[in-house]
Amino acid sequence: MQPQRQPLKSNAFQVSGQRLWQWYQHAIADLSPGQGRSRVDLKQELDWLLLEVSDLEPLDLKLAPSETRIMQVSLAELQQLWQQRLTENIPVQHLTGTSHWRQFHLQVSKDVLIPRPETELLIDLAVDAAQNSARLEQTHLWADLGTGSGAISLGLATAFSQGTVHAVDCSQAALAVAQGNSQTYGLDQQIHFHLGQWFEPLGGLEGQFSGIVSNPPYIPTDVLPTLQPEVFDHEPHLALDGGRDGLEAVREIVAIAPQYLQPGGVLLLEMMCGQDEAVKALLMNQGQYTQIQIHPDLAGIPRFAQAYRI
Ligand code: GLN
Repeated sequence: MQPQRQPLKSNAFQVSGQRLWQWYQHAIADLSPGQGRSRVDLKQELDWLLLEVSDLEPLDLKLAPSETRIMQVSLAELQQLWQQRLTENIPVQHLTGTSHWRQFHLQVSKDVLIPRPETELLIDLAVDAAQNSARLEQTHLWADLGTGSGAISLGLATAFSQGTVHAVDCSQAALAVAQGNSQTYGLDQQIHFHLGQWFEPLGGLEGQFSGIVSNPPYIPTDVLPTLQPEVFDHEPHLALDGGRDGLEAVREIVAIAPQYLQPGGVLLLEMMCGQDEAVKALLMNQGQYTQIQIHPDLAGIPRFAQAYRI
């Protein structure tokens, strides 16, 4: 499925392809690496911004467009946005209010973590896990703990189209974003949203989940300030800060998930590079998990922990 394009604002601007191309070429020429961002990273972000606020297609960024283009902002505003990106380190996704994740074009705000590409794999792992567990019931019930923008819930609801997802977040503002995204994709009947801490709002659903998925905050508190300024200055610490060793949320989820999983149900967690041995040990010591596995992301970094309820 092609990502949906944001509807153009009614005050759409017409800009000559030639002027837009000139602006783009100048912006590329002016790129200077800094604060952990290479020229290649910045060029990628420049492209995202341009594609998001115009009717340009990726191929247009290789071949100078000649015809008039439709933009949601004027060239002057585009320049202003790009300068904000460079001088204030505002993530492009916050400037446009949108982010692409799997097949979704999601609304995002400073209240939610910008969904990361590596997290996309959690959905494939959930699908594989469900196929591999003969003991799971056909009517799938999933939980997404710390849903943020709702990305994981939308992915699960789409992958398990007969299933139901319970999405939990302790931020009302994040839930509003997630709910909006679920409505955009017509998944709001399939996803139930709950305000609260981890399992707290799921009382009454013990023993019923086919799977529990979470990308919890996992950055150790004292590592947070070392993150890129785009992350540290602009993304919600609530979604990043995993406490002293980064594993506070993971510890709680690993401890309680077996109460909520069906026998044969799967727990899938995202984690930080270097946490795999500790997370594996937590799962083993809990005593109610079997087939504990660590999966790498596409960069080869051990990134996901998977375990089935005995
Ligand atoms: N992957 C995010 C980052 O690197 C962290 C997400 C999280 O803590 N769950 O910034």
